[in-house]
Amino acid sequence: MKILHVVGARPNFVKAAPVMRALRGRAEQMLVHTGQHYDAAMSKVLFDDLALPRPDLDLQVGAGTASMQTGRILLRLDPLLVRYRPDVCVVYGDVTSTLAAALAAVQHGVPVAHVEAGLRSHDRTMPEERNRILTDHLADWLFTPSQDANDNLAREGVASGRVHLVGNVMIDSLSRLLPRTDSAAVLRRLAVPPDAPYVLVTLHRPSTVDEGAVLQQILGVLEEVSRRWPVVFPVHPRTRARLDAVGGTSTALRLTEPLGYLDFLSLEKEAAVVVTDSGGVQEETTWLGVPCLTVRDATERPVTVTLGTNTLVGRDAGRLREAIERVLAGGGPPAGGRPDLWDGRAAERIAGVLTPDGCKGHAGG
Ligand code: UDP
Repeated sequence: MKILHVVGARPNFVKAAPVMRALRGRAEQMLVHTGQHYDAAMSKVLFDDLALPRPDLDLQVGAGTASMQTGRILLRLDPLLVRYRPDVCVVYGDVTSTLAAALAAVQHGVPVAHVEAGLRSHDRTMPEERNRILTDHLADWLFTPSQDANDNLAREGVASGRVHLVGNVMIDSLSRLLPRTDSAAVLRRLAVPPDAPYVLVTLHRPSTVDEGAVLQQILGVLEEVSRRWPVVFPVHPRTRARLDAVGGTSTALRLTEPLGYLDFLSLEKEAAVVVTDSGGVQEETTWLGVPCLTVRDATERPVTVTLGTNTLVGRDAGRLREAIERVLAGGGPPAGGRPDLWDGRAAERIAGVLTPDGCKGHAGG
């Protein structure tokens, strides 16, 4: 059985690593990197930390609009699909590369498996939401992380035989690599005093960083907070450009390059509170039991709020300030729980479904 995995952006790497490990020895595997994230700090460092094999092919799509990247991925995957003829194409998450690769595969009659299917923010202005919906409706196997995702897919009329509730592959990577983290070393490197409670920040969604006024207000709150507590902010490349545009490069904040996966986990697990708009970080903090404040109005990962440590604070600066201060004063949120099947074994369950027999049933699907 030949399996083609297509990845393109940072969160894809974290999800693909455990799936490729679980399929090792059970299938011939090929890894394609679209080149959507190409900076070393967003790509090579994560490949190394996650022990992902070097890609067999790099499509080098580089920067551009989603349409430009999609067009290049379609054109550049085409000859490979003809030549390699995989039995399955596995795509991950909700980025431009996810949808583009799924579309390229189905055009050649190659069945698609979507890992992290069924999540919905119900906000179609988000590019990620459109990518999720379209990819799910192209896919033959939909591997979901939680029951809410199954419910969303049932509401959209996706045949239940295609949907497999397997748990969260993000947590497979987290639980495997947590023992290799070294919080003290990373804090020392960033000159954060060893016992100080600190705030960890990640922001990169267009809705947070593309509107100058919103970004400026959030930065204002973080700068205020940083007078009392260290604030560490590894800056995503798209956010770096926006920060420069609004002049938000205050020295009060500890702005760093994007961190490697192990270094980021090292900070995340010991943070007093995490402020984020990232999907994966909402999940990781829930599993770690670390308070998380999400600067969005909706989340496609509701279990992190209902069961976990996540609170949606929207993009209102006042609410964010109040929530950070409340957490740092020891006032919540209450200790959360871990969703079912977030147990480090999701990829094994996926490998149990993607067997030659399982694939025969779906081929041409
Ligand atoms: N992450 C990382 N370095 C950082 C920030 C985040 O390795 O500086 C990891 C984080 O632990 C998580 C993943 O990147 O596993 C989340 O990716 P991102 O926030 O870019 O995408 P999203 O989850 O929002 O799709």
